[in-house]
Amino acid sequence: MDTGEVRPQTCAVANFYGPSCSFYLIDSEDQVPMRTRKLLGLGILLWLFGARVCAQQEAPASPGPDARYKVDGLVVVGHPDDDIEVAAYLAKMIEQQHKHFAVVYTTRGNSGGNAVGYEQSAALADVREMEARHSLATYGIGNAWFLRGSDTPGADVLHSLEAWGHGQALEEVVRLVRLTRPEVILTWLPDYVVGENHEDHQGAGVLATEAFDLAANPLAFPEQVTAPRNRLNISNYGEGLRPWQPKKIYYFSDAMHFDFFKGKGPEYRTSEISPSRKIPYSQLAAEAWSHYRTQNDFTDAQLKEFTESPVRFIFGKSLVGGTPVNDIFEGVGPAAIGYVRPRGYEPQSPELAFELGGPWAFYRAFWSAHNIEHLADLYPPEAQVAPGESLWVPLLIRNDTDAPKKVTLRAVLPAGWSERRDAAVYSVEPHDCYPVQLTVTPPESDKSRWQTLAWEATADGRKIGTVTLRVDVVGNGLPQ
Ligand SMILES: [Zn+2]
Repeated sequence: MDTGEVRPQTCAVANFYGPSCSFYLIDSEDQVPMRTRKLLGLGILLWLFGARVCAQQEAPASPGPDARYKVDGLVVVGHPDDDIEVAAYLAKMIEQQHKHFAVVYTTRGNSGGNAVGYEQSAALADVREMEARHSLATYGIGNAWFLRGSDTPGADVLHSLEAWGHGQALEEVVRLVRLTRPEVILTWLPDYVVGENHEDHQGAGVLATEAFDLAANPLAFPEQVTAPRNRLNISNYGEGLRPWQPKKIYYFSDAMHFDFFKGKGPEYRTSEISPSRKIPYSQLAAEAWSHYRTQNDFTDAQLKEFTESPVRFIFGKSLVGGTPVNDIFEGVGPAAIGYVRPRGYEPQSPELAFELGGPWAFYRAFWSAHNIEHLADLYPPEAQVAPGESLWVPLLIRNDTDAPKKVTLRAVLPAGWSERRDAAVYSVEPHDCYPVQLTVTPPESDKSRWQTLAWEATADGRKIGTVTLRVDVVGNGLPQ
C-alpha cells in the first residue's frame, strides 16, 4: 500500500555511522525528488567512507618465496653420482659455513651397468634416484630434483639436448633456479673434452648456463612467474615463482687435462679434517660414493685417487665482481640483484669461413653468447678415437657473400691416417653453409698417442681457413 510514508531503516552498512544514521525507502512517487537527493547524498557518503576504509586497511602480508628451498648453491649435473665430483667441497661448506645446497639431476641415470643386480632402464632409474638421495643425506643435502631426460651415452652434447627435449629440460631447470634462488650455480663444464666427456654432463652444463641467464628474465617461461589469482583456491593458472638472478657460475670437469684447469678457478683441498667427524672430507666423499652401489665398480686405488684429488673449479662468470681464483662465495652478499642481460648470439663469421662444425661450432657461439668466451682458451679443439675405429669430423664452409663459391679442401694428416670423404671440391651457394661430413681412421701404431690433424680450404685462389683437431688415440667406452 502506498502510504507516502518514509520509513527509517537501518542496516549493517548504515550502522557503521552510528545509531542516528538511517537511510530511506521510497514509498511514494511524489516524494521522489527529495528522497533521490537524500539517497544520492548518502551514496556519496558511503562511497567516500568505503574509499577511506580501503586507504587505511592494510592488505594481508604477501607470502614471500618458499624459504624452505632457498639455497646458497645449486648443483646441476647429468647423473646420480656426478655429485661426488664436488661432494668433499659441498660437505665442507655445509659443515663449516652452514651453507645450503640442492642438486638437480637432468636424468635419473637409467642407463649403464648395474654392479648389484639385474635392474635396468626404468627400474635402474628408480634405484639410482634412491642411491642419490641416500648419498646426499650423508653430508647434509636434503633437496634433490630429478628431471625427465633419458641417460644418453655419447660424447656430443647436441645428442643429449635433442634426446631430452632441450626446451622442456631448460624450462625445468629455469623453474628450479627460480624456486631455489641460488647465489651460485655449480655445474659440469660445457665443452667437448677428452676424458669421460659424457654428453649428459655437457648437457647439464649447457642447461645450467642458459638457466643462469634466463631465470631473472620474466619473458622466459612467463607462466612460471605469473601470480596465481587466488592461491588458496583451485584453478589457478600462474606458478607464482619470482624471477631470480644467480650471481656466479662455476664449472667442474672430468677432462683428462685436469692440470690445464689449475689456476682457472678456486681449488679446495679434500685432505682437510671435518671437525665433527674427525676424518678428511675425502673420506666423507668416499662414504657418500658408497651409496651408489649400482656404480661401485672403482678399485680401492681408483676411489682413493678420485676422492683425494682437490676439488678444482673453472670460473664461469660473476655478476658481483671478485677474482676467478678466489673463493666461490667471495662478493656474494645477502641482497638479491636484478636481471643482467647476457650478450646473446652475434654472427661473427667473415664472408667466407671454414671451421669445425657439430658440437665445436655450437660451443664457439654458445660461450660468446653467455659471456664465458674465455672457455675457448682452455685448450684447442680435441677429440678421442679408439684404435681401429673411425672418428667423425664435421666441417663447415660458410659463404656469406652474394656469389656462389667453389671451395677446395685438402687434408694434412699424420702418416698412416686415412680419410673418407665424398669429394674434394664443394659448391657453396650465396648465404649458405655446406656441412662437410668426413671420417678419419688412425693406424694401430698410433695407439695411446696424440696426433694433430688439419684441413685447409681454398677458394678463388686464396686460403680461406685451416681447421686443426688434436686427437688422442684411445677409447673411453662412449660412442661419439
Ligand atoms: Zn655422469
